[in-house]
Amino acid sequence: MLPHREVYEAEHALLRDAVRNFAATEVAPHFARWEAAGIVDRSYWTKGGAAGLLCPQVPEAYGGAGGSFKHNAVIVEELAYAGYAGPVTGYSCHSDVCAGYLLHFGSEEQKRRWLPRMARGETVCAIAMTEPGTGSDLQGIRTRAVARGDDYVVSGQKTFITNGQHADLVIVVARTNDSAGAKGLSLVLVETDRPGFRRGRNLEKLGHLSADTSELFFDDVAVPAANLLGAEGGGFTALMHELPQERLALAVSSMAAAQRAFDVTCEYVRNRKAFGKPIGEFQNTRFKLADLKADLCVGWAYLDQCLQRHERQGLSAHDASVAKLWCSEMQGKLVDQCVQFFGGYGFMREYEICRLYADARVQRIYGGTSEIMRELVARNL
Ligand SMILES: Cc1cc2nc3c(=O)[nH]c(=O)nc-3n(C[C@H](O)[C@H](O)[C@H](O)COP(=O)(O)OP(=O)(O)OC[C@H]3O[C@@H](n4cnc5c(N)ncnc54)[C@H](O)[C@@H]3O)c2cc1C
Repeated sequence: MLPHREVYEAEHALLRDAVRNFAATEVAPHFARWEAAGIVDRSYWTKGGAAGLLCPQVPEAYGGAGGSFKHNAVIVEELAYAGYAGPVTGYSCHSDVCAGYLLHFGSEEQKRRWLPRMARGETVCAIAMTEPGTGSDLQGIRTRAVARGDDYVVSGQKTFITNGQHADLVIVVARTNDSAGAKGLSLVLVETDRPGFRRGRNLEKLGHLSADTSELFFDDVAVPAANLLGAEGGGFTALMHELPQERLALAVSSMAAAQRAFDVTCEYVRNRKAFGKPIGEFQNTRFKLADLKADLCVGWAYLDQCLQRHERQGLSAHDASVAKLWCSEMQGKLVDQCVQFFGGYGFMREYEICRLYADARVQRIYGGTSEIMRELVARNL
């Protein structure tokens, strides 16, 4: 069970119930089919919007619930604890990441146009930073947005983009000035029905099987200058502003998925017998599970501290990096140990622990790798 936590209040408990209900009625019956298809149904988005689970931080004036990041966290926790890593990634990218860019850097017109549709799930949003030639090093981005008359013309290629197949709107990180270094990056909104935009393959992955993750191609896509999100040259600053929340959301999903792996393992070792007794009675099992339990307790405590800080004053890059690094590394170690307790069954996809293991791996890679998190933490030593 997810632990009781003092950072949450009664309204969060109500939302938690609503997410559990949504997971049971709108995700569980379809999940195996979505994993086989490599993508969720489009109705997952509109039903999530109707249930009030999208973009909770968006103010009511723009069609959202006017909540705080704790509402986002409850949604991520419940879906991740239920084992729905693919659906979590899609919603999290849309609500925890993309909505923030529009909210904090969008013009009034952009906010009025996109946020209500995003909250209803009619518009699915993606953010495209990574390119085949560069991921960790954002300053290596080569996609360009060149001013031409009243337009920007976007050309380049992106890869590994979450929601790439469903996306109606892509926040593209593009170079607007070749000689200005980080100040040469800008954010440009590209609607996916514009001529020159093309989706590549829905990529086959180790885990998160129902999340659509894609290559995207921009062949001289003309967008009006009004599609610039924030200031020209302000892309890097916007990324630095928004990445802490993205990393906090990833820490939340790591903790919830790790808790799930721990709980299903405790259940398994109580029932599986070897040498005439449950394997949970061997001292090796008890001590290792005790260590994992201690890791979970510490992780939740730090996460809750970060949730409070983020709500009160915004999370620092340092705290967000520590949270993402520690929680995702802990999750990786924990699921690996848990698979071991399942023996051969742990390697079978029909066992939940196997899927939790596969789904965990990417947590140390996307949203900034563990090595990049260490770089960011080390900067403040
Ligand atoms: C499932 C999935 C979904 C994703 N979704 C999105 C998305 O929606 N939008 C998006 O833009 N991107 C997305 N990504 C991309 C993801 O953010 C990148 O894969 C990640 O940032 C790493 O970049 P890279 O793959 O180019 O690896 P590289 O940057 O090539 O890194 C390779 C290795 O080198 C290490 N390394 C790099 N620089 C340093 C350094 N300075 N010091 C030490 N080690 C270093 C890295 O830590 C890593 O271990 C997604 C990726 C996956 C797998």
